[in-house]
Parts: sequence; structure tokens; C-alpha cells
Amino acid sequence: MGKATGFMEYTRQNPQDRDPLARVSDWKEYSSPFSDKLLSQQRARCMDCATPFCHMGSEIQGMTTGCPIHNLIPEWNDLVYRERWKEALDRLLKTNNFPEFTGRVCPAPCEGSCTVAISDPAVTIKSIERTIVEKGFANGWITPRIPEKRTGKKIAIIGSGPAGLASADQLNQAGHNVTVYERSDRAGGLLIYGIPNMKLEKDIVVRRIQLLTKEGIDFVTNTEVGKDISTEELQNQFDAVILCTGAQKQRDLMLEGREVKGIHFAMDYLTTTTKSLLDSNFEDGQFIDTKGKDVIVIGGGDTGADCVATAIRQNCRSVVQFGKHPKLPTSRTSENMWPAYPNVFTLEYAYEEAEAKFGDDPREYSIQTKKIVTDEKEHVKELHTIQMKKIKDEYGKYYYKEIPGSEKIWPSQLVFIAIGFEGTEQPLLAQFDVATTNQKIAAAYGDYKTNIEGIFAAGDARRGQSLIVWAINEGREVAREVDCYLMGSSVLP
Ligand SMILES: Cc1cc2nc3c(=O)[nH]c(=O)nc-3n(C[C@H](O)[C@H](O)[C@H](O)COP(=O)(O)OP(=O)(O)OC[C@H]3O[C@@H](n4cnc5c(N)ncnc54)[C@H](O)[C@@H]3O)c2cc1C
Ligand code: SF4
Repeated sequence: MGKATGFMEYTRQNPQDRDPLARVSDWKEYSSPFSDKLLSQQRARCMDCATPFCHMGSEIQGMTTGCPIHNLIPEWNDLVYRERWKEALDRLLKTNNFPEFTGRVCPAPCEGSCTVAISDPAVTIKSIERTIVEKGFANGWITPRIPEKRTGKKIAIIGSGPAGLASADQLNQAGHNVTVYERSDRAGGLLIYGIPNMKLEKDIVVRRIQLLTKEGIDFVTNTEVGKDISTEELQNQFDAVILCTGAQKQRDLMLEGREVKGIHFAMDYLTTTTKSLLDSNFEDGQFIDTKGKDVIVIGGGDTGADCVATAIRQNCRSVVQFGKHPKLPTSRTSENMWPAYPNVFTLEYAYEEAEAKFGDDPREYSIQTKKIVTDEKEHVKELHTIQMKKIKDEYGKYYYKEIPGSEKIWPSQLVFIAIGFEGTEQPLLAQFDVATTNQKIAAAYGDYKTNIEGIFAAGDARRGQSLIVWAINEGREVAREVDCYLMGSSVLP
């Protein structure tokens, strides 16, 4: 344990994010690393509570509790307190292939179940994780680890998101020859095209892909399996195949007028914005521009929040985000006690920026879109909405009821649909003849085998749209299963 009384002496303080008004004029990361002074106090707050709920990584009330990759948090907190950074890095890399991603954009379910958080704000676990890995890069401790022996076994991984990258990393270290196929022009999955640059700068992703390439992994981009290379070819060439194709099939808005101009899927908006930024710093004009427009984002989740922050950076005239659910309470309720993930109101980066720029939180709660109205050019002109009331029925089930008289008209020239994802795209699965359940690949957690011999599945493609940390967890675990399948046993964790 670092400092025995640290959690009593110091209050939680996260690194100060960049000023909201200043940061919306660029696309750089909004968050900042720890200063040395702040870190020296924050690292002393871990109480080494003996039963570290922070790394249990399970689900309570349908939400993640603790770290799904079981990061050895109290151990590295102690090493950081003692300034034994290299050892802290070694402990961190034992369980996490990519702390530079999770240390920036993980929602940190570990912090919700931190024992200090029973009575005080949690230890700043995520920011400490980021500091450890960035010190590792800055000090040159993270260098290519080239396997000494090769097994001669060949594995194809389809999809280069965090699940594909984690399984590739593990299997390469086990000595297998790994090829990762990616249909996009850049490897990284949603780490590149999905999560916006201001949350995770793309240099960070490229740095990791370059490292993995030096370690011997072959990345084949601009190649859609099932189209540019057949599934038969792949099965003939490789000893095992892992499907890490994500769950990017977007849920659509079932409303008359959906097809009119000016209404787009959130992912089309986010993807083209990042691609244009990376390709040409927006010189090519190949993106949806919200400049001077009244923007409405339909969907109250994180993807919607990323659209809000993107529109603000493009100088939209106004932005509103519609959510189906009521506003969350400011503190835990009796139904959401520790160590469950705290289901409470937070002011995420996008909303902080909207408040700074427009003086208001852009979120509208318990609201439903009823009608799309267009102008004479068949372009969206306004949305008509109604407020909803969440009611518990006699069996304890919730349902929504419209509130008469709460109708409202919202002018808008651009609408983004961010109401979630239905599952993984199906055509490739049909070609492999892989079975599905609820539009996800049917393969059990912990086993990852599909119904087809030698074909495995992991990440969002198997579990549905989730988190980077779960994708890393599944990528690591599927690697061990594939290693066992090919070699009869595995040394992988
Ligand atoms: C807008 C947005 C923001 C998010 N923000 C966060 C966040 O802040 N924190 C967090 O923890 N999680 C976040 N998530 C969720 C997180 O990004 C995903 O859970 C995670 O990326 C899933 O990893 P994956 O490897 O399973 O799939 P993905 O990252 O979706 O990667 C799948 C890859 O497979 C490729 N592919 C599909 N089919 C083929 C084919 N036939 N041939 C070749 N390639 C193919 C795709 O092009 C894609 O690159 C966010 C998601 C979205 C949509
Ligand atoms: S990966 Fe996420 S849950 Fe795990 S320690 Fe880091 S921030 Fe916490």
C-alpha cells in the first residue's frame, strides 16, 4: 500500500480538461494528462482494501462492475506511489494490451466499484493508467517484442478493432503468423473511425498499429473479406479464422419521411468527419458539414454525444440531443448501490462544451420524434415531438406514455440518428455459414467457437455493441482458445 492515510488526506482530483471554449476550436484531445504535483497526491489515495472490487470485472444489474480485464489496480497504484514506474508498467501490461486506449476513453467501471467510493469519490484509476503507459512510451520502455520462435501456424483475423488487435497481439506473441484483414483504409476499427479525434487522437492508434506491425503482424487494409477475398480462400490458406467484425449495423428510425435529405446515420457523420480530418485536414470537403445549421441528434447515448461535440467544432448554429429516457438522478438510488456501476447524471465532455458555447445543456429527456417535416426541396425542415412519461405497471415493468399537450416543433436542417446498433453485418456470416442469435455471432463467452470448425468470434460481433475494454478482454481470451485449438494447450493467460 502506498500511503496508509492518503485516502483521508487528499480528495479526488482528475487532471484538468482543456478549457471547453478553447478546445472546440480544434480537434485535439479534450482531456489532459496528470501534472506531477497532482499525481503525487492522487496516487496516494488507493487504500489497498484487500478485496479489490475494482478489478473483479463482472456484471451487476446488466452493467459492467469493475475492470473486465482484471487490471491489477492496487498493485500498480502502490508501485506508482513508490515511483517504480517500469514495474508498474510491467504489471499493467500483464492484463491490458492497450492501456493507452482505455486510459483515455474507458468509462472506468473500475472507479464505480472502488472501495474508497463507498463514502468518498473514487481513486482516479483511469488517469493513473494513462500516465503509466505514456511514461512507458516516453521512456522508451515499450519496444517491439519479436517472438523468438514461430510455430508455422497461420491465423486470419477479420476486423482490426480492439478485439482483433488484442487477439492478434496475443497470438503473435505465442509465435503464430497472424494476418489482420480490414475493409477500411486504416486499421483500428472504431478506435479510428467511430470514436472522434478529440476523445482519442489517431496518432495514438497509429503508434500501436506500427508497433504491432514491427512485431510481425501483417495488416491488410482496404480488403473486405467476402468481397475482395473469398471465405473459401481464407479457410484454405489459414489454420484458424477469428471474426472480430464488430456490431456496426445501425438501428434505423422507423418514421415516415426518414429518407428525406438532411437525415443521416451518426456513424456516417462521425466516420466521414474523421476520414476527412486525417486525409486532408478537411480540405477535400468529403464530410457532412453542420456549419450554420440547427442540428438535432436523435438518441441519448455516447454516440449521440460524440455527434454533438463534432457539430460544435464545425460551428453549427444550434445543437439539441433527444433522449428517450428521463434525466438520471445526481446520486445513487437505493436500486443502484455500490459496487454497481453508478447510473447517475454526469456532464460529459460534449455537454460541457455545449454549455460553454450555447449556455445550455443540449439534452432533452423523455422525448419522442413524431413527425418529420420537409421544405419544398424534400430537405428536412423541422421535427415534431412529444414528451413521454415513464410509468411502472403492476408487474414492475416500465413503459412510456405520451403526455397530451406536450407537442413541440423543432427547426432543423440536419438530423443524425444515433439510436444504437442492431448487431453485426450479416452477409459475411452467411458466406461462412456461421450461426447467429439476435444478429450477433452465436459463440459462447469463454469458448468463442462458432458452429463452423476452426472459425471463432470475439468482441462486439459476438456480444453486441459494447466497450473497448470488453473487446480487449474477448480478444485476449479468444487468442488462448485458438492457441489451444492449434497446439493442444496454451501458455497464454
Ligand atoms: C461513436 C462511438 C464511440 C464510442 N466510444 C467509446 C468509448 O469512448 N469508450 C469505449 O470503451 N467504447 C466506445 N465505443 C465502443 C467501442 O468502440 C467498441 O465496443 C469496440 O470498438 C468494439 O471492438 P471490436 O474490435 O469488437 O469491433 P470494431 O471496433 O467495430 O471493429 C470491427 C472492424 O471490423 C471491420 N470489418 C467488418 N467486416 C469486415 C469484413 N468483411 N472484412 C474486413 N473487415 C471487416 C470493420 O471495418 C471494423 O474496422 C464507441 C462506439 C462508437 C460507435
Ligand atoms: S481498463 Fe477501464 S475498467 Fe480497467 S482499469 Fe482501466 S479504466 Fe478501469
